[in-house]
Amino acid sequence: MMLDLATLLAASATATLSLAIPVLFVAWRVRVHHGLALWGLGLVLITLSYPAFGLRALGWTSGSILVTNLLTGLTLVVHTLAVRAFQHERIWRFPNWVVWLPLVLNMAAVIVFLRDDHWRNILVAATQATMGFMLLHEAWAPGLTERRLTGRWVLIGGASILCVTLVCRTVFMALASDWDARYNVPTHVQASTYFVAMAVVLINSMGFVLMQMERSIDQQRSLATHDALTGLYNRSALQDLLPLCAAQARRHQAPLACLMLDIDHFKHVNDAHGHLAGDTVLQEVARRVRARMRQSDILARFGGEEFLAILPATDQAGAMHLAEDVRQAIATQPIGLSDNGECITVTISIGVHVGIPDEDQNAVERMIDLSDQALYEAKEAGRDRVMYR
Ligand code: GH3
Ligand code: MG
Ligand code: MG
Repeated sequence: MMLDLATLLAASATATLSLAIPVLFVAWRVRVHHGLALWGLGLVLITLSYPAFGLRALGWTSGSILVTNLLTGLTLVVHTLAVRAFQHERIWRFPNWVVWLPLVLNMAAVIVFLRDDHWRNILVAATQATMGFMLLHEAWAPGLTERRLTGRWVLIGGASILCVTLVCRTVFMALASDWDARYNVPTHVQASTYFVAMAVVLINSMGFVLMQMERSIDQQRSLATHDALTGLYNRSALQDLLPLCAAQARRHQAPLACLMLDIDHFKHVNDAHGHLAGDTVLQEVARRVRARMRQSDILARFGGEEFLAILPATDQAGAMHLAEDVRQAIATQPIGLSDNGECITVTISIGVHVGIPDEDQNAVERMIDLSDQALYEAKEAGRDRVMYR
């Protein structure tokens, strides 16, 4: 049984609209700002392109060609912008107007060659292929600073299939002569492009939604174990990490160093400069401490303005050296508070304890307690210093 064109177009429009509605609904309800609403808009545009294509069966050929090309091109541009919005953390990126350029050329070609099927089809396929490459480029995201998501491979796959198909279509259009007047292009070329385009919309949408899901899982996981302000481990992450450190220290009989760091008179910083300035100081202190530690070391936000550093395989001399280095890095470089150049200098006190935890379950907690006592002694002795216990 052969399906007529109207049924085929209606089925395609139903498929894309069925994707568009849930995507837009979730984007609106969850208020995610990672390009999901833009992606839904693209799906609405491609849905509208099917009835627009059908208009040529009613004799409105020129109008149909114009509107269908505009909607198809807009879909590719909007989907490219959606992926850009999602992967915004890039070291370098070209401006947004570059994404629109192939669509402008596409529409110019459609208008200029409206009555010349041969050249119009070649140029339309070529400019659409360029839009496909833009989408592929954004999915690939060169210069991305955050973790590359696995779901992006699905999008890269879909965009690649689209590029290959459109390049083949361009070449075929340039070579073909046996055109079917009904569709203004050879029927088998039209049919294969139609089916591939449909599949690509489904594959890309799946890829993009998977990327959204993957990022949200990443964020949840990170929120559960990290402090939102400083990005350091939080206290609950320590409960998993500390027994592991203790077990490794015992196994290798390598000393474990605990450093308790506390910003001096931090309440004054908040009182004199405000809570936001206090937050900036916390972030900068965390950054400076972290920058001086090894990758295998652990740094956690232990309390309000208290940090705990755990250094595996580090003896007393090494721990004291690092602590002194950190203390100086804080005390000697003022911290910029705002764009107007306001700076303040803060100091920190550090308590250090080093040992090999025994089999006892609370061995590491006892070590942390001792470093906390050393910190107390540093505060008592006048602050801005390192003490060992
Ligand atoms: P000391 O030298 O004895 O450590 O004095 P201190 O003022 O630093 O110590 P205290 O523990 O009394 O005060 C800590 C202050 O840290 C109190 C609290 O308002 C502030 N604080 C805790 N968490 C945050 C935060 O997330 N942001 C900001 N801005 N301030 C915080
Ligand atoms: Mg303090
Ligand atoms: Mg404190």
